[in-house]
Amino acid sequence: VRVAGSLYTKEDPLVILSSGSLKSSVTNSSSAWLLQFFSSWCGHCVQYSSTWKILAEDVKDWQTVIVVSVLDCAQEENYDICREFGVQLYPTIKYFHAHSPESDRGTIFRAQDVGQDGSGADRQVQVMRHLMVDILQNHTKLERPDHCPPLETYSSEDLLPLLGQRSEYYTAIIVEEPESYIGREVILDLLMFSGVEVKRALSSDRLLMDALKITTFPSLYLLHPNSTHTELHIEKKQRFFFSSLLKMLPGVQRKPRGFGRTSATGLLEALSGKATSVSWRTFNSVKVYTADLESALHYLLRVELATHDYLEGEELNIFKDFVTVVAKLYPVGGSVVKLMKTLSNWLSSIPLQRLSYQKVLDLVDNKMRIAGMFLGAELRWVGCQGSRAGLRGYPCSLWTLFHILTVQHDAMPTALENTGLEEEAAPVLQVMRRYMRTFFGCGECGRHFEQAAASSMDQVENKEDQILWLWDQHNRVNARLAGTLSDDPQFPKALWPGPTLCASCHEEKNGVHIWNRNKVLVFLRQHYGASNLSPKYSI
Ligand code: FAD
Repeated sequence: VRVAGSLYTKEDPLVILSSGSLKSSVTNSSSAWLLQFFSSWCGHCVQYSSTWKILAEDVKDWQTVIVVSVLDCAQEENYDICREFGVQLYPTIKYFHAHSPESDRGTIFRAQDVGQDGSGADRQVQVMRHLMVDILQNHTKLERPDHCPPLETYSSEDLLPLLGQRSEYYTAIIVEEPESYIGREVILDLLMFSGVEVKRALSSDRLLMDALKITTFPSLYLLHPNSTHTELHIEKKQRFFFSSLLKMLPGVQRKPRGFGRTSATGLLEALSGKATSVSWRTFNSVKVYTADLESALHYLLRVELATHDYLEGEELNIFKDFVTVVAKLYPVGGSVVKLMKTLSNWLSSIPLQRLSYQKVLDLVDNKMRIAGMFLGAELRWVGCQGSRAGLRGYPCSLWTLFHILTVQHDAMPTALENTGLEEEAAPVLQVMRRYMRTFFGCGECGRHFEQAAASSMDQVENKEDQILWLWDQHNRVNARLAGTLSDDPQFPKALWPGPTLCASCHEEKNGVHIWNRNKVLVFLRQHYGASNLSPKYSI
């Protein structure tokens, strides 16, 4: 991991520059750069790093046109370059237009003064974001970032002829007042997505307003590929709601990282249903499916653990704890829970320190089946189906299982009494952590999870924190993986739950998206609660 002091790591969604990479990065670049020169010994820079990280996360999808970056002037190798770029105070924030010449030493970005009056990080982030939009809009022809979409407004003359036209893409028209930034921000938010083109228009364009019958601003009007058009209802008139709604349109997909604009084929296939395989199981994303949980247990017991000839010592204890937690907290009765309970009792009754895994398999596959307790012998993904083989499936179902277990533990607070696990503040998370570290087939995922657990799991004090910690951690993984090869384009990774699942979970503070954690908790209890489980496709 390349570390700039200890303030920024490569896990942060920004670029860490050094003396060797600064000039080659910003000179004649296809994108603009926003660079914070900081010093890791400066107390204010330490405070400021959280604001800078919020900004970087907030505009992560704008990276192809403007890159957020840092350079640590306290590192010896960077002394000379900081002097050469005229940095005397920390932090100094400068921007470089796209295609800037080698002689460019950057232009001071004044936004850092905002918030000195104590108005808070989110206000600063909003101001900086607006300034970034201004930079992207106001430049000479030469300085235009290569992939910057048009940010100017369109007129009724440009837009009215599009009504009633068939097209390969959706066209979204954001109608707003002149001082609003939402339209430009949403255009940039959708930069990494194919299948939709976002344009903005002004509320003062009477001809357009009359034709579209729009009376409140900002509003979102959608032209469908099949030539129909309609105004979309936006629950809250906030940037995040506009962007999320467009990203969720059928066939709108995140472009794979490092690839250019994808063709319209994905969109057209999705709309016509051709992308779906013959055995596709229709499902409702507001429900959770027991078939996914059964498939998770099937894969875990018969495939993942079966790679171990023997379980002994710590491994055996981890396996026992996992089975105990599932046996005690599995939310529905029936043969699966009977099987897990019998397995749990058997494991606690055997005095062995070393167990041949074949014995577990024999028990699960033969003896229990005879007693009418069985686990489906095949994978049947439903809510965890991927649009093609190799996507989603098992890891999706494991997340789902553990979210359910955290919610069940909260609903049945005494369920783990007398198991020896209740002494830990977050027993479900601890069992998950040990399982991931020891058995989960993706070692890198297990290491990431262990790092996250080591840094913050000890702050979990009660069963509500336990639910929210896992939700938060899962969102961090989603953010890290969005647009990578493991991201299923039909189910793009995004902050979850999105506004369509839970509008009240989302709020805005000074223009920056924030979660209403109380509402998220209510939502998670409902979504992962026993009454939201669907037995469709189950054994
Ligand atoms: P998933 O992320 O698997 O989510 C499954 C379902 O959970 C979603 O469909 C949604 O309904 C719901 N959901 C989404 N977000 C949340 C949330 N915040 N809270 C509650 N529910 C939510 N892959 C890597 O490439 N690198 C890694 O480091 C990595 N780490 C992982 C760590 C763990 C603990 C696990 C279980 C998996 C990890 N994976 C990692 C796999 C990756 O996170 C996904 O599970 C996989 O790519 C499949 O993604 P998916 O689209 O099915 O959605």
